[in-house]
Amino acid sequence: MTLRGLVIAYFQYPAIIGYLLAATIAIGLFFLYPAPLVPTLASIAISVLVYPLVWYCLHRWVLHSRWMFKVPFLASTWKRIHYDHHQDPNRLEILFGALHTTLPTIALATAPIGYALGGTGAALAAFATGLITTCVYEFFHCIQHLAYKPKRKWVVAMKARHMAHHFHDERGNFGITNYFWDRLFGTYYERIEKDRKSETVFNLGYTPEVAERYPWVAQLSGGVATGHPSQRIPH
Ligand SMILES: [Zn+2]
Ligand SMILES: [Zn+2]
Ligand SMILES: [Zn+2]
Repeated sequence: MTLRGLVIAYFQYPAIIGYLLAATIAIGLFFLYPAPLVPTLASIAISVLVYPLVWYCLHRWVLHSRWMFKVPFLASTWKRIHYDHHQDPNRLEILFGALHTTLPTIALATAPIGYALGGTGAALAAFATGLITTCVYEFFHCIQHLAYKPKRKWVVAMKARHMAHHFHDERGNFGITNYFWDRLFGTYYERIEKDRKSETVFNLGYTPEVAERYPWVAQLSGGVATGHPSQRIPH
């Protein structure tokens, strides 16, 4: 796949179209409820800085936590937003999060910061920043999962770290575009450092034994798949 092919594929994902549409609306509303320059710029800057930390926390302690599948009404959400992605990392229909979970999360993570700094206008600027940052994250996530060979060294390294999260050990490398918080919290690793593969890298701890007690995800998935994704029957 060429970079051009990747860009074309990327802009066809409904989630990306949804984010860009929402960002356009937020920017349009900003001009209806404008905020002064300094609080607007501050809201944008803080949103960009806070985003990787929020993503790290959600990915590590929500998506990879082992409590969501234990709660009946959260099981289907957990399955959709992360279990399925780890079960089958090459399945592109579920590469992106579901808008009904991501949009409120992005709004909650960014808009209050903007609101505190400059009212409605700055809240809209912060929200738009969160949406655009999400598009950047998802673009790199596409590079990581699509059959595209990056040329730049830093992109190659970024892809290798995320592939290790999917195929080697899911308990590390939680960042997608930067691993600053992984380094700070000690979850950053390169594949060579850990020679033993995690046994839960594809099922995230949702094993057949666990499924006996908490059956909801298994019921929705038609059982618990074991083994390497490439060995499973294609759906
Ligand atoms: Zn991934
Ligand atoms: Zn993950
Ligand atoms: Zn498939």
